[in-house]
Amino acid sequence: MAEVESTAGATTSGEAADRNDRLLLEYLSSNDAPCPLCGYNVRGLTRPVCPECRHRLRLTVGVSDVSLKWFLAAIVPGMFSGIAAMFVAIPIIVSPLSGNGSAPGFIVATDTFGFLSGGFALFMMARRKRIVSMPARSQMWLAGIVWMIHVLAFLALLGVAFGFY
Ligand SMILES: [Zn+2]
Repeated sequence: MAEVESTAGATTSGEAADRNDRLLLEYLSSNDAPCPLCGYNVRGLTRPVCPECRHRLRLTVGVSDVSLKWFLAAIVPGMFSGIAAMFVAIPIIVSPLSGNGSAPGFIVATDTFGFLSGGFALFMMARRKRIVSMPARSQMWLAGIVWMIHVLAFLALLGVAFGFY
């Protein structure tokens, strides 16, 4: 009995796959579409296989109008700051150990900011599905605020480094 059921299940999914192939070929009979792998125009195929790169094609659901640009813009400053903070941390740790005294406070503060910023970028990466599905305007604000904070922090660092205050 169990064997019959599993065979029936396999037949059903096989039929579904055949049906999907037919729907795919029907769509391609009247629409231009690039192969997702090699970009070859697969319009008018008679088999669900790309004639150029020989990869099997299947029917799938895509989402229109999704853009990653604001999300990427929002995480770039934090990624850069986090990586830079790791390198800056080396002299901060080594200097007191080698008897050269502690690093200046503003360097330590900058490095702490870098780590927090990198941590926030990782947090946004973990939440990327939620962020990307937010309205574009909200994503734009998020990216804008992240950049503003980093530009202000950089200007503050320059100000301290050159002794403006
Ligand atoms: Zn191809």
